[in-house]
Amino acid sequence: MLNVDLHCHSRVSDGALAPSDVAARAKAGGVDVWALTDHDEIDGIPEAREAANALGMHYITGVEISVTWAARTVHIVGLRFDEKNQDLAEGLKNTRSGRERRAREMAAQLAEAGISNAFEGALKHVGNPDLISRTHFARYIVELGVCKDVSEVFSNYLIEGKPGFVPHRWATLKNAVDWIRGAGGIAVVAHPGRYDFDDLELDVFLAEFKRHGGVGVEVVTGSHTEQEYARFATVAKKYNLLASRGSDFHGPGESHTELGALPPLPASVVPVWHDWRL
Ligand code: AMP
Ligand code: MN
Ligand code: MN
Ligand code: MN
Repeated sequence: MLNVDLHCHSRVSDGALAPSDVAARAKAGGVDVWALTDHDEIDGIPEAREAANALGMHYITGVEISVTWAARTVHIVGLRFDEKNQDLAEGLKNTRSGRERRAREMAAQLAEAGISNAFEGALKHVGNPDLISRTHFARYIVELGVCKDVSEVFSNYLIEGKPGFVPHRWATLKNAVDWIRGAGGIAVVAHPGRYDFDDLELDVFLAEFKRHGGVGVEVVTGSHTEQEYARFATVAKKYNLLASRGSDFHGPGESHTELGALPPLPASVVPVWHDWRL
């Protein structure tokens, strides 16, 4: 069976490794079909593709777009698009803009909570100045010794109700799906288990996602528990959505899951790659 991993990050967004090093790690993890899905950014694609080709993996273009839907942040993964598409590039550029201003506000809040110089501190961890994210702040807070790991940071800082949280307006769901489809790709809901949707909210969200032309949902991801694999396999079938699999790897020792290490998709679902020539 093919080992397919369609979700991970490099230094081009908030991952810790260069795209070619993520490729090497995917290969070492047994991955056959691989997509790098940096947040709101596709600049890592040429390096990722070249490395994947050299290692003999099937390379799939990917991105993870930040979306604001019903006052919540939702992530939409785009796969198999033409990375030269201008509307997609422009849309992602607009989505990235505003991150620096947000980061300065986050730093001001952290300073009030006793964590000074967080903007400069986070920047030291940034690979792409256009993409300063909460993860980079988290790494700085760990570096200071205030928390033992990134996961502890996201319990005490940077989340709603805690110091360092600044709400942000990302792309609309329609825009994100349109950009992906307009570039010839397919849109997949990333880690649906992370959004605290009740059944009714999930229903409204997926109906709108499908109306815009979205076709898939992640079922097996590093962000889901085993119970969530089962829950979202059922959801995929009920809503006639294809199922995807991806580690959401960010860096050694930082992610729950290594590239390629997740269980296979349940047999009951149709994989997003069912009609790809691999
Ligand atoms: P941002 O796009 O700046 O809001 O940052 C979002 C990123 O923060 C996500 O892509 C994750 O990499 C990271 N993140 C969010 N929540 C957590 C968490 N609970 N544990 C670890 N990383 C998290
Ligand atoms: Mn991330
Ligand atoms: Mn995500
Ligand atoms: Mn991700």
